Amino acid sequence: MRIGLGEDSHRTEPGGPLRLGGIDVPHDRHLVGHSDADVLLHAVTDALLGAAALPDIGRMFPNTDPANRNRDSAEMLGLAAAKVAEAGYRVVNLDCVVHAERPKLADYIDAMRHRIAGALRLNPHQVSIKAKTGEGVGPVGREELVVARCVALVEANEGGSG
Ligand code: MG
Repeated sequence: MRIGLGEDSHRTEPGGPLRLGGIDVPHDRHLVGHSDADVLLHAVTDALLGAAALPDIGRMFPNTDPANRNRDSAEMLGLAAAKVAEAGYRVVNLDCVVHAERPKLADYIDAMRHRIAGALRLNPHQVSIKAKTGEGVGPVGREELVVARCVALVEANEGGSG
């Protein structure tokens, strides 16, 4: 068994929707970044790569490469997961936290869990997502920033590199 930690943050700008966890959440702000800026999928991607001690998302998909401009983060997650599988690991479970002042994410969590599980060919029961506000304080509380964290547990396949 190995564990990986992924963490990411993206700033927000006016105009929705909010791309998060592979779905478009209705909102009046969106995340800004080189790719589609899906902060949750970036944290998941880095947690998986980290569990296998592979180069992180920034090294795998450099922002100097025009191919990564506005890139679908679900596609990047799938490619990273394939690298982790090639390295001889399968995912046991993911546990994630999203820090966003608005919108209320409770109604969208299950859709995100299913989207991430689908991209990784997991059961939704292997994917947990929790949402927190910034308590009205700091860059998250002022709705300037959304932060996501994820831990991933992976298990070496029989006869894998371990
Ligand atoms: Mg990112």
